[in-house]
Amino acid sequence: MSKKTVTIHGAVTAQNTQESVTAAVIRLIDGLYLKNGISDADVAGMSITVAGDLTGFSPDRAIREAGHNVALKCATEHTKDGVNGFIRVTVTAQSDNPVFNVYLGGARALSADLTKYHSIALDGPSGAGKSTVAKAVAKKLNITYLDTGALYRALGLTCLNNGVDVRDAKAVEQCLRDVKVGLDYENGVQRVTVDGVDVTAKIRTPEVSMAASGVSAVPYVREKLLGIQRDIATGSSVILDGRDIGTVVLPSAEFKFFLTASAEVRAKRRFDELTAKGQKVVYEDVLNDVITRDRNDSTRAVAPLKQAYDAVKIDSDNMTADQVVGFIIDYVEGWLQ
Ligand code: C5P
Repeated sequence: MSKKTVTIHGAVTAQNTQESVTAAVIRLIDGLYLKNGISDADVAGMSITVAGDLTGFSPDRAIREAGHNVALKCATEHTKDGVNGFIRVTVTAQSDNPVFNVYLGGARALSADLTKYHSIALDGPSGAGKSTVAKAVAKKLNITYLDTGALYRALGLTCLNNGVDVRDAKAVEQCLRDVKVGLDYENGVQRVTVDGVDVTAKIRTPEVSMAASGVSAVPYVREKLLGIQRDIATGSSVILDGRDIGTVVLPSAEFKFFLTASAEVRAKRRFDELTAKGQKVVYEDVLNDVITRDRNDSTRAVAPLKQAYDAVKIDSDNMTADQVVGFIIDYVEGWLQ
């Protein structure tokens, strides 16, 4: 089947120098390509307009020099209305992905439909450091953090407490049908309740991890938790960490990151974390749990763990949590400023 022809808009601000115009327009094209999952091969043509005050360097030259091999047309805008310092791009492409217009920094003012709230999706396998990173990013950007794994853990714990086999989808649904999962923030710290009872302290054991992984494959469970996760992202700026945030929960999130690391590195981190909490665990068991959960999470039929096409991959094998946080903050601020 041939793809649809789509038109994607974008804009960015720049100063009247070669360096500024080049950096701005390349950042814009990279963002447009990433968010729309396209490459030069999908592009039929690009039309660029430059505000009349940006006379120093032509952005189409910058795009060519960066190696893009696409049809380009560039013109100067009339700036009588006082719109200065902008470069606008319209891309015509073949794509089946939803269109995502990209307005960077000051150019966001040109797009009335951009909401004032930002959402960050942080997905990745168990033990990649998502919650540590998401907490720190939320603090730095002063936005809400939702650890979505805690919701699956709360339902996994409920099944354990009721002696339900988490691989039995029917039994899981029956057990959870009338259960109410709640979410609260106490001094900025997330608390999860099941039928009004706070279970936050009870959901961090290896048994609950495996039970959460089991119930998370049950379609009823994913459906039940979808609304709670989406509600929190409407009406506030958020960072959600999980497995399917960028692909299912918030497919139109402005920022998507896929944080990963090798199974061995992730197991070592989880081992250290559990040991520091005083839990007696064996490294090989933790590694086996990580591998099993990876397999469960990536092979389940509904909302499997998968990198969204428009997510930025961060491989944290050789990065500290602070470095990952720094990378995300720089990326987000670079987009917004
Ligand atoms: O992230 P955390 O380890 O707390 O998640 C526990 C389990 O919940 C994961 O192994 C995964 O199976 C499931 N989960 C999920 N989708 C999410 C978050 C967690 O399937 N968005």
